[in-house]
Amino acid sequence: METDFQTVDEARLKILALLQPITGTRTVAIREALDQVLATDLLSPINVPAHDNSAMDGYAFSGHCIQAAGITNLKMVGTAYAGKAFNGNCGKGECVRIMTGAVMPENCDTVLIQENATVSGDTISFPPGAVKAGDNRRLAGEDLTIGKPALPAGKVLRPADLGLIASLGIAEIAVRRKLRVAFFSTGDELRSLGQPLDEGCVYDSNRYTLWGMLTRLRFVELLDMGVVHDSPEALEQAMLQAMEQADVIVTSGGVSVGEADYTKHVMEKLGSVNFWKIAMRPGRPMAFGQVHNKNTGDSAYLFGLPGNPVAVMVTFYAFVRDALFKLAHANTLPIPIVTAKLAQNVRKRPGRTEYQRARLDMTQGTPIAHLTGAQGSGILRSMSESDCLLVLAHDQGDLKAGDSVLALPFEGLI
Ligand code: AMP
Ligand code: MG
Repeated sequence: METDFQTVDEARLKILALLQPITGTRTVAIREALDQVLATDLLSPINVPAHDNSAMDGYAFSGHCIQAAGITNLKMVGTAYAGKAFNGNCGKGECVRIMTGAVMPENCDTVLIQENATVSGDTISFPPGAVKAGDNRRLAGEDLTIGKPALPAGKVLRPADLGLIASLGIAEIAVRRKLRVAFFSTGDELRSLGQPLDEGCVYDSNRYTLWGMLTRLRFVELLDMGVVHDSPEALEQAMLQAMEQADVIVTSGGVSVGEADYTKHVMEKLGSVNFWKIAMRPGRPMAFGQVHNKNTGDSAYLFGLPGNPVAVMVTFYAFVRDALFKLAHANTLPIPIVTAKLAQNVRKRPGRTEYQRARLDMTQGTPIAHLTGAQGSGILRSMSESDCLLVLAHDQGDLKAGDSVLALPFEGLI
């Protein structure tokens, strides 16, 4: 077992290096595939569109008919509708009235938009420059080409992807099985909702923030194991049960110095878990590793997050989220990074990464970051009022109003 001091980046890399993605896929109807992880590259079985077709309402003809110098006159010989092609002949000096999406008649490669046409009986006229050969035509396979990858394995499927799959005529698709995540809170002082709040006790809020953050990752299946009391037996029991049912265990509390002794003892018995002091604030103590049940062969990855309510969230964003993408076989969707200017001076000690809660004012051009009140690691209110975390880099010292900082906006993302 390793007990030592890590930077945020070191810890992140060590975690990612240890993870083996889950195996197993399932086939689901398109709508169930939203936010799930595509299991294999999807090769297009057809060309989309299947035929050259018109991008506009207008008149189709051969580009050779266009007069470079004078007016072009064409005789209209028929009409092509979307879903009902013109099957006649459109020869030299002729054109076909065509609707958007209609198959291009044979010999036609150009569409004049109707607004640019002068119509007189069945004669269509237009001046030089009104259209070039090849204009307003969509080519067969220009969206998706038969045999070429339409979507890459590992993509977390979004609404556009569902539409794209449907455009290929595919009704069911193979996605990864869900990643199973068990989570519980530890601490004798914790009370569950509905219980009286005894003296010195607090309500267990971490299970709700964790549930919320995990639920946003819709390729995850959750197992809420409640509150586990501070005893080696209870902890071991909970770990064994979680291992049986889940790929990943996320706990909060019980990993700080002093408390960690019996936790470490249990972990030593169950597997290889590192207790790290991470150079970050909030979120300094954290445990990560793998736990096994020698009798059953069950195992799981364990993230032992700190107990403080803000630290739980920050360590989830910093370490757990990307790890879950990797375990689920998903291509990570990184949290976007925004450069903002500080609205006020901020104290920062070099030698650790600090995460401060802030709101971004986006109305001024450059985003302006306003801290959201007291930044203690137990103060959820400043987290609730914020819409981003400012990431103050490891070596950074104090900052002044107007200085640039990096912000991770998390609205809607996690
Ligand atoms: P610990 O990491 O167990 O030392 O806990 C640090 C602080 O976070 C203590 O003040 C705990 O009471 C608090 N805490 C731990 N777990 C929770 C939880 N699930 N909900 C709310 N507060 C918690
Ligand atoms: Mg505790």
